[in-house]
Amino acid sequence: MRFQNLPDMYKRLELKDTFQFSCRKDLRCFGSCCRNRELTLTPYDVYRLKTNLQMHSDDFLAEHTRYRLESTSGFPLISIKLGSEPEKICPFLKADGCSVYEDRPTVCRLFPLARVSGFEQNSKSHDEFFYTLSTPECLGRREERTLTVLQWLEEQGLEPFRAENDKMLHLLFHRQHDRGRALTEHQLQKIFVSLYNLDVFRKFVFETNLIETFSVDSQEQSRIAENDLELLHLGFSYLRADLFT
Ligand code: SF4
Ligand code: SF4
Repeated sequence: MRFQNLPDMYKRLELKDTFQFSCRKDLRCFGSCCRNRELTLTPYDVYRLKTNLQMHSDDFLAEHTRYRLESTSGFPLISIKLGSEPEKICPFLKADGCSVYEDRPTVCRLFPLARVSGFEQNSKSHDEFFYTLSTPECLGRREERTLTVLQWLEEQGLEPFRAENDKMLHLLFHRQHDRGRALTEHQLQKIFVSLYNLDVFRKFVFETNLIETFSVDSQEQSRIAENDLELLHLGFSYLRADLFT
């Protein structure tokens, strides 16, 4: 059994498959993909955005995100807090386009595609595929340019996002994770702090015995102290070892 079934209306796309799309600023729809849609953020997305905005994680999360539990996994799902009804515009959309373009999140880079990635049930075999979203407002879908999924991923600089986002799979598909049982408040708090609130996690790392528990040597300690991505990697290792014990 596959980890997620696609509704029949969507066609599974592999990296070599093609789709039709081209986005231009002079299209009438410009910016309509940046409003009124769920803009989910992965831990890596949050790291990129808060670094771009030079904000403390606490402030970034409070100001720009909202939070709910994902129905299948029970894990926290963070997304961008949109502006008020009825437009519900992404706060990063400005008159000339995306103000955080270099660090825009995974969902924005993929659009008009979506990506599904996971492990087959009861095995370690990784599966990844893509599908085109239903986007009637997007005139770019009517443009003549045909490209492969792989070309699109390369153009959009998605390689580090794919690799970093897949680190989450080791938690979502952890052999001790019982999907029939809700995560406790304590587990949710651990996920939230270790993966999304890096500035608070750094404090936790250096004020508890976590460094000793993970035998982090002094060179690694300096890297973690200065580099949020190294810290995020430690967060994943910590959760893999500790979340379900
Ligand atoms: S073509 Fe599609 S992706 Fe480009 S601006 Fe229009 S709605 Fe957005
Ligand atoms: S982050 Fe940028 S690309 Fe993504 S929805 Fe907001 S303005 Fe659009």
